[in-house]
Amino acid sequence: MTFEEQIQHFRGIVDDVSFPTVKEWKSKHTGGKVVGMFPVYTPYELPHALGMLPVGLLGAGGIIEIDHADSRIQSFVCSIARSTLELGLTDRVKDFDAVYFTSICDVARNLSGIWKANFPHQLVEYIHFPQNMESPSAVHHYRGELQRLLGNLEQLGGKKASADEVVRSIEAFNHNRSLCWRLHEIRQLTPWKLSTYEAYILLRIGTLLPVEEHTHILEGIIPLVESRETKQRDHVRVILEGSFCEQPPMELLQVIEEAGCYIVNDDLLLHSRWFTDPVPANGDPLLALAESYIQRSVSSSVRHYGLRSRKQALMNKVRSGQADGVIFSAPKFCEPALLDYVLFKDELEKNGIPYLAFEYEEKMSVFESIRMQIEAFVESVMFFT
Ligand code: SF4
Repeated sequence: MTFEEQIQHFRGIVDDVSFPTVKEWKSKHTGGKVVGMFPVYTPYELPHALGMLPVGLLGAGGIIEIDHADSRIQSFVCSIARSTLELGLTDRVKDFDAVYFTSICDVARNLSGIWKANFPHQLVEYIHFPQNMESPSAVHHYRGELQRLLGNLEQLGGKKASADEVVRSIEAFNHNRSLCWRLHEIRQLTPWKLSTYEAYILLRIGTLLPVEEHTHILEGIIPLVESRETKQRDHVRVILEGSFCEQPPMELLQVIEEAGCYIVNDDLLLHSRWFTDPVPANGDPLLALAESYIQRSVSSSVRHYGLRSRKQALMNKVRSGQADGVIFSAPKFCEPALLDYVLFKDELEKNGIPYLAFEYEEKMSVFESIRMQIEAFVESVMFFT
């Protein structure tokens, strides 16, 4: 298959909310366990170390109607919470044996409680990430949390994971992350070779496959991308910020690019490049994961950084990406994104960086008004800066 055919093929799988890759994996692994991973970051290494399949649980992308979820969760919350619940209530995730939610916001917290009440046959975990990164107890606390999660998975799977097995999982994900970082680098240095839409599909398919399979795909496709002969266009370079949890409609990414932007950095599917350095694959693997989370992870609106400022992290992205401007594209009702927008816009104004802001939801299907806003933004950046 050509590069373009592969992208189209993966898009078909991503859009299939019946999770065909999970069904296929289960048919080949009798008694195998599948663990759903709600964004933004969850430790994929833990289920993998026990031979389980971690799978991204990223909502329904506007593909299904919300017929049942509104009777269990408020209608004025983000679409990913409602559509993920709808997937559960319509039996589309019945093959999942466990689900991970994390302490990113009140909605995710509530969703984990609702999930527990509605799907008692599944193991439902709510991961308490450390909040005070400067505390000497933070690493110890999070290591303990990882130990608890691993213990519960061991009970689910009926076997123990050795330290060596966890180390091997860390190595598998380190390698995979290095390839995801490479895709990111290609987009930052030569954005005309790989659109954000294409990169997104290549990362998103990884949330549905065993990590080894995804790594194999990336190893084959990266050389194709590197050798692509695509023409450089007169686009403006932008940072896309705010789409870290609920996934924007893929058409929205295409509209931003068609309107004249190269997206040279973003916070889409951030788990795929969560750590800035490889997780050490020696010594105590749970301690290595905990230390990496606290000391060597990327910036995101859903975690605290102690003395490190998220405003500073955004400015670093602008500088390292040589960006002309920032586009805030946040899900409707997403508090972490909308609260950070207030901080970020002040910082950008102080530094004279142009920005544009709009909100999206999964069901959005008309993009003309956003397209016009982006075109006007691109023109203003091109002609007035
Ligand atoms: S989209 Fe925002 S509000 Fe909704 S679950 Fe994610 S972080 Fe929370």
